[in-house]
Amino acid sequence: MIRISQIKMPVGHSRQQLENKIRRILSVHGNEEIRWTIVRKSIDARRKDHLQYIYTVEVLVSDEKKTIEGAEKRDRNRKSYGVVLSLARPETYSFPAPGKKELAHRPVIVGSGPAGLFCGWMLAQHGYRPLILEQGDRAESRKEKVNQFWESGKLDPDCNVQFGEGGAGTFSDGKLNTGVKDKNNRNQEVLNIFVRCGGPEEILYDARPHLGTDHLVNIVSSMRKQIEEWGGEVRFRARMTELLWKKREEGSVLTGIKLSGGEIIETDLCILACGHSARETFRMLTALPVLLEPKSFAVGLRIEHPQKMINDCQYGPDAPEELGAAPYKLAQTLPNGRGVYSFCMCPGGYVVNAASEPEKIAVNGMSYHGRDSENANSALVVSVHPEDFSAFHKAGEPSVLDGIAFQRAMEAAAFRQGQGVVPVQRLEDFRKNRVGGIGTVRPVHKGGWNCANLRPVLPDYLAASLEEGVEAFDRKIHGFSMDDALFSGVESRTSSPIRITRDPHNFQSSLKGLYPCGEGAGYAGGITSAAMDGIRIAEAIAAEYAPFQK
Ligand code: FAD
Repeated sequence: MIRISQIKMPVGHSRQQLENKIRRILSVHGNEEIRWTIVRKSIDARRKDHLQYIYTVEVLVSDEKKTIEGAEKRDRNRKSYGVVLSLARPETYSFPAPGKKELAHRPVIVGSGPAGLFCGWMLAQHGYRPLILEQGDRAESRKEKVNQFWESGKLDPDCNVQFGEGGAGTFSDGKLNTGVKDKNNRNQEVLNIFVRCGGPEEILYDARPHLGTDHLVNIVSSMRKQIEEWGGEVRFRARMTELLWKKREEGSVLTGIKLSGGEIIETDLCILACGHSARETFRMLTALPVLLEPKSFAVGLRIEHPQKMINDCQYGPDAPEELGAAPYKLAQTLPNGRGVYSFCMCPGGYVVNAASEPEKIAVNGMSYHGRDSENANSALVVSVHPEDFSAFHKAGEPSVLDGIAFQRAMEAAAFRQGQGVVPVQRLEDFRKNRVGGIGTVRPVHKGGWNCANLRPVLPDYLAASLEEGVEAFDRKIHGFSMDDALFSGVESRTSSPIRITRDPHNFQSSLKGLYPCGEGAGYAGGITSAAMDGIRIAEAIAAEYAPFQK
């Protein structure tokens, strides 16, 4: 196969035009058959009067000799088309060969978020018949539950925007980018599985792949059905409340799991993929021989602007519709040394009430695949470190839980300020530390909202950092600091405040048989990296154990 990178095509081009260009580059005539696939597609919007796509494609021509000749002509072609040619090696993912140790029980996975689901997929596909325990409902009924919460405010602490099948990612924008480089192609495998379960094919090559909540709900339920067909089992409304263990010569070892109803499941392998909001689980772990460390995370507010304003800035006022809603990514280091940055930006999205505890408010963002709401929203967050949240230490509690106490204090303040719903504030009112109304930007939310003052929700240094950050971002996106932009809060669940220490080689915690996995354990940040971590843990188990035979 020949890989051609840096093919530039004007926005609005057809597939045939791209093929014609590929043929010209490789000197392949129109009557010769070629097969080609797009490997990557991105937009170059540096010149608003000359928007263009940049492609990387892989081409298979019928005549191998010709393929090689095409490659040999690369120097001349590079001059005329500015492309780069190379011979492509097929990049495929491979799961390890099974180990020899016999499993006494099925591996148990706690949590069906991306980490648990992808771990379960891999183990089930290779004959390990995992049991997945999920405290919330299956995706179809969870959707009803979440909609009810947004309409009535009645929260189910086990099944909400954070908890239930698919985990925190189900009601999201479904961005699938990851900064993680993985030479084993787990990233590509995650995308392949999403497509196999109903995701759109473009995620395989789009430089900014995204699914949208409408696709995600169907994808996670297809994944579950396939896991079951392969001999795995998924149990809903099955909340793990305790890990059972024994002290043995080789150290502390896991022996089982207790569920909220009292049922005990014997196992010596538990993949703990509980997500960053499993606060009771973290507390339970503090009483076990499981090493935990406090971890930095980020806190802030979500900001809404008219999507049209963002589009105009990113693509120019005459941008064709096919480009869709424009994203942005902003970051600034402030004179006080703190970094403020945009996070989980949702073009054409909704701000959602993503609370998982009563009398607390946490916000986040979601979108449908079409990303067609009138507002762009994004979290603006500032990094916070253990020394920042030690002030929230609760007497009698282990200090590793301080980050959670800090999150809870802000979430309770948001609930109070918003009088039970999401507090919303115009940027000008935030600057002036007053409660105001709504201006030209209408809140585009899932769940109720009230105009309120958000300043008391955040420590002063955070509020001041956000204010400075917005001004700095206005120099990058003109209008970003518009008075009518809307803040809502609090964005407190950006990543886990805790890391469950694990051995870098066998991925087990200090309690043998316990595999901390995904975002809650502190090893991922986002859907794709959590899914990849799930795959990594499945590989570690498979490399040691033979498939489950009983
Ligand atoms: P989670 O997804 O949190 O899953 C953990 C699961 O474990 C949950 O289903 C929970 O119910 C279950 N569980 C917890 N404790 C127990 C227990 N004791 N017993 C049984 N089950 C238990 N990331 C992106 O990359 N792109 C986005 O666009 C994006 N948008 C987001 C939008 C929203 C509204 C939210 C909330 C998050 C978003 N994220 C996004 C973040 C992303 O969802 C998470 O990074 C990802 O889901 C983490 O995966 P995980 O499997 O580690 O944990």
